[in-house]
Amino acid sequence: MARPAVADIDLDSIRANFRLATTLAPQGKALAVVKADAYGHGAVRVARSLADEAEAFAVASIEEARTLRHAGLPHPVLLLEGFFEESELDEIAREGYWSAVHDTAQIDRIARTDLPRPITVWLKVDTGMHRLGFSGAEAVAAYQRLSGLPQVERVVVMTHLANADQAVTDRISVADQIERLPPALRAPGIETSVANSAGLLDHDLARLDWQRPGIMLYGASPLAVENDYSQQLQAAMTLKSKIIAMRWVEPGEQVGYGGRFVARDRRRIGTVAMGYADGYPRQAAEGTPVLVDGQRAPLVGRVSMDMLTVDLTDLPNARIDSEVELWGKRLSANEVAECCDTIAYHLFTGVTARVPRDYRGR
Ligand SMILES: *Cc1c(COP(=O)(O)O)cnc(C)c1O
Repeated sequence: MARPAVADIDLDSIRANFRLATTLAPQGKALAVVKADAYGHGAVRVARSLADEAEAFAVASIEEARTLRHAGLPHPVLLLEGFFEESELDEIAREGYWSAVHDTAQIDRIARTDLPRPITVWLKVDTGMHRLGFSGAEAVAAYQRLSGLPQVERVVVMTHLANADQAVTDRISVADQIERLPPALRAPGIETSVANSAGLLDHDLARLDWQRPGIMLYGASPLAVENDYSQQLQAAMTLKSKIIAMRWVEPGEQVGYGGRFVARDRRRIGTVAMGYADGYPRQAAEGTPVLVDGQRAPLVGRVSMDMLTVDLTDLPNARIDSEVELWGKRLSANEVAECCDTIAYHLFTGVTARVPRDYRGR
C-alpha cells in the first residue's frame, strides 16, 4: 500500500462556497482567488471546477496565470501584485490577463510600450494597509493618467482590507478604509473592488462591483467571530493519514525528538505517517487535536519530518490502519491552526507536493 498521507479535495464544496460568495453580493461579480495553487488545493482543478461560475480568476504572478491558460481556461486572470517586468506586458495583453497597477513606474512602463491590444488594469489604492498602492490625490491622478492611455481599455479601482476579520477593532475599520477611497474614484461608472472573504462575509459596505473571495472558497472562515454565513462554509480539504505503529510507553519514558513529551503514567502511543515535510506544522503544541477514526486524540511530542505521534490511551479501539484526520470536514483547520500559532491559510498553502491530492466531486 502507498504511504497513506493524502489531501482529499472536495470540489463540490468549493463550488458551494463560491455560490455562497456570489449570493452574498448578487449585484456584483466575483473572481475566484486561486493564487498559491489555489491555497494548496490545486489551481487547475479548482479553476476547472469553477469555470462556469467564476467571471475571472486571481493569482499572484504571471507564472500562475500561465498555468491556468495552459490548462485551457479562457477566463481573464487578475495578477494581484501586478507585473514585475516590462517584458510581461506583451503577454498580459495577448492573453487577456488583468494587471494590478500599484506604482508610477508601472504606469510609465505601460505608457512607453506598444501593446498588441489595450489591457484592463486594476488600480490599487492604499487605504490603510500600507503594503501596495497609491493613496488619496495620487490615486486620482493615477486613475486619470491610466484612463487616458491608448494602451489601457478599462480601469477598475481596488483596495485591500486590513482588519475585516475582526468583529471589533481599535485599528482601522472597514468603514474607515472605504472612507479613504477618494470620492472621485467612487463616482458612478467606475468599477470598484474591496471585499476579500472577510469583507464579503461580514461587511455589507465592502460588497461593491467585484468581490475577491479566497480562503472562504476553501471552506475556512477568516472571521474571528463566526456569523450565519461563515457557518455555511464547507471545508474542502481533508488532510488525512493512518496509524502505522502503536506501542505502550512506561512512566518516565519520552516520545520523539528532544523529549518534549514524557509519559507520567503508562500511555499507548500511535505513530501517524504525517510530518512537517508534508506540511503539518512542526510548531504544533502538545495536545493539538487529531481525529482517529473520528474521535479526538491529542498530539504528543515533537512533529518529525515524516511522522507524528498521538496519545491513544483513551481510544482502546484505535489500531494500526485507523484513519487519522489532521484537519478537514470534521476538525476545522482554524482550530488546528490556533494550536500551531498560525492561520488556516498557512496550513493549506503549506501542504507540500509530496502529499497526493485526491479529488472528489467536479
Ligand atoms: C489573497 C487576496 C485576496 C483573497 O483574500 P482572502 O482573505 O483569502 O479572501 C483578495 N484580494 C487580494 C488583493 C489578495 O491578495
